[in-house]
Amino acid sequence: MSTLRFHALKEIFNRQPIHIEENIRRSEIFGANVFNESTMRQYLTKDAFDNVMDAIGNGSKIGRAVADHISTGMKEWAISKGATHYTHWFQPLTGATAEKHDAFFETIGNGLSIEKFGGGQLVQQEPDASSFPNGGIRNTFEARGYTAWDPTSPAFIYGTTLCIPTVFVSYTGEALDYKTPLLRALQAVDAASVAVCKYFDKNVKKVNASLGWEQEYFLIDSGLAMSRPDIVLTGRTLLGHSPAKGQQLDDHYFGTIPNRAMAYMRDLETECMLLGIPVKTRHNEVAPNQFELAPIYEEANLAVDHNSLLMDVMDKVAERHNFKVLFHEKPFAGVNGSGKHNNWSLGTNTGVNLLSPGKTPMSNLQFLTFFINTIKAVHDNEALLRAAIASASNDHRLGANEAPPAIISVFIGEQLTKVLHELENVTDGKLSPQEKTDLKLNVVGKIPDVLLDNTDRNRTSPFAFTGNKFEFRAVGSTANCANPMTVLNTIVAKQLIDFKEEVEAMISKKDMKKDDAIFNVLREYIKKSKHILFEGNGYGEAWEKEAKKRGLSNNKTTPEALKAKVSKSAIKLFEDLGVMNKIESDARYEIEMEEYVLRIQIEGRVLGDIARNHVVPTAVRYQNILIDNVKGLKEIYGASFKKLAKEQLNLIEDISSHIEGINSMVTKMTEERKKANAILSLEKKAEVYCNKVKPLFDDIRYHCDKLELLVDDELWPLTKYRELLFTK
Ligand code: ADP
Ligand code: MG
Repeated sequence: MSTLRFHALKEIFNRQPIHIEENIRRSEIFGANVFNESTMRQYLTKDAFDNVMDAIGNGSKIGRAVADHISTGMKEWAISKGATHYTHWFQPLTGATAEKHDAFFETIGNGLSIEKFGGGQLVQQEPDASSFPNGGIRNTFEARGYTAWDPTSPAFIYGTTLCIPTVFVSYTGEALDYKTPLLRALQAVDAASVAVCKYFDKNVKKVNASLGWEQEYFLIDSGLAMSRPDIVLTGRTLLGHSPAKGQQLDDHYFGTIPNRAMAYMRDLETECMLLGIPVKTRHNEVAPNQFELAPIYEEANLAVDHNSLLMDVMDKVAERHNFKVLFHEKPFAGVNGSGKHNNWSLGTNTGVNLLSPGKTPMSNLQFLTFFINTIKAVHDNEALLRAAIASASNDHRLGANEAPPAIISVFIGEQLTKVLHELENVTDGKLSPQEKTDLKLNVVGKIPDVLLDNTDRNRTSPFAFTGNKFEFRAVGSTANCANPMTVLNTIVAKQLIDFKEEVEAMISKKDMKKDDAIFNVLREYIKKSKHILFEGNGYGEAWEKEAKKRGLSNNKTTPEALKAKVSKSAIKLFEDLGVMNKIESDARYEIEMEEYVLRIQIEGRVLGDIARNHVVPTAVRYQNILIDNVKGLKEIYGASFKKLAKEQLNLIEDISSHIEGINSMVTKMTEERKKANAILSLEKKAEVYCNKVKPLFDDIRYHCDKLELLVDDELWPLTKYRELLFTK
């Protein structure tokens, strides 16, 4: 083992898990650093409190005078907690969170100073935001954007900073962040759902989309991670031979959590509790050193904020524990990658989960309505949903033989398939009383029992119904959930609006009863959206063929997939629902294409550098040792050296051929990059990066990984897979 790697490993050996206080009651610290309902009651006037609650519950606006009251209360609370600064906290389209801290402290002349935080500072800020991605929305003459308070996500203190969740928009009003379109989509799905709920329960006034994400990640010792330039710069390994043992034995999944990892998780969970992130589940994942963490689900906007915040907190806590968190979807070839399942449902203000079957036939008809409409929405917008999870890093996962494929399909289980089948056969037109009773008692009425034994779980489905929610599994582990959540809630909103219109039309034009109309529309939806339902093995080649026959898209790469975002129908959809105007849709497309290009470009550079400056020189050094050895043998044994040096001579030649392979491929890749960089059209450029540059990574890697197996372990400069994956 090289001295470099040896020392890194030796250091880890001496590392002790950080001691974590064992006897903190989680319920006692939960939300301690959040300006939540109970804290607001304490620090706000009744009037201010009511205003905030009304804004959260009904989306009402908060006036300036009230904002002044709120900011004063917020400031007092924050200072009592030791905060010295405040920041507007937002999620620009870089994927990371952004913050700019300002001190409460202000001078007021004569050497005096006070702590100040007014309503104006709470409500709106103007970060100098010209270097955030904007996809051409902001020309230089209007380079400023502003952040505006989102009262539906509570302020919190992290470290010594009061963080105020905000939206980030341009001066012309276009969204420059993830949150703005999400909030609009949530509003759309709320309105559309409430309208449909009225068929079943007049008391429903508000419907919230809920989200429970499951975050997968790798935990690697920071010393080892830092020793790999590829991990440092790209978040994943660009080369590295598979270790003799990987995940074949399935001995990591749900196994005992290693001590150091456990100490990290406990520390992390404590931080989460303080911040009001309701984390609940932790366990080992399939690959070595891979883990998962999941919270109790929350209202979608809050859940998205909490996931973004969590990812930051995970990084910070990892520093204390000498770990580096890898969020990348595929940090290591040959072992499982990471995802972020998005569990999603709709819930009413009356406490009903609309995707959970109820106790009466009527509530089950409501369940079926939302269930079938969701399926129809996914069916009609499968390509758009695929686009919502597209990224350079997620491409490694989708379609790779381990994760939900790039084809979107819906799994509902055998039992519900049967229910849909029966509904498909209901009479066209008015139902006879007998048929209606039959349906209510024997089909719709039986659903809860049916679901109880609906234990078959298809792990290969990208979008699966799991009893009381849909689970969108194809979301990548690095993703901001806002993107898929915006699309999902928008398409469901649109679908529910259409549904309502169709039902109304039947009631008025065909003089049907409400129930008859609902059954009729649902029947047609079942027929029309059959193609999206798939219960088999999503990883198999057979499915690819079948999906093609069904006309489902199979966009394996990001440049291909993203196009769906700017199709005429997608732009119209977002426009019609007030989620994004054309400028915003176009801008996002451009930003994501550009990001794709940049990611592949960076990876190409890093790989070229490692291959030429780390791997080749090491191989040459080892080759020289072999050459010296052969020369020595010749000196001692004269003519008969050849027999003795046979293997060495073979090795010398093998090494040469791999060195040649690396050099020619890196040269070729550099040429292709140059060509790509000269292309003006972003779309074409992304295609060239995808189809010409990226495939060469595999060739370069092939030769490097071969050399890793040939070259003396003591000389190899890069930390190996077995060390990265099996060091605890
Ligand atoms: P799994 O077997 O997939 O781990 P769980 O029951 O543990 O299933 O749920 C996974 C996630 O789904 C959790 O974050 C949980 O809070 C969330 N979840 C449960 N019910 C809902 C719901 N109605 N809406 C959204 N998410 C939900
Ligand atoms: Mg799950």
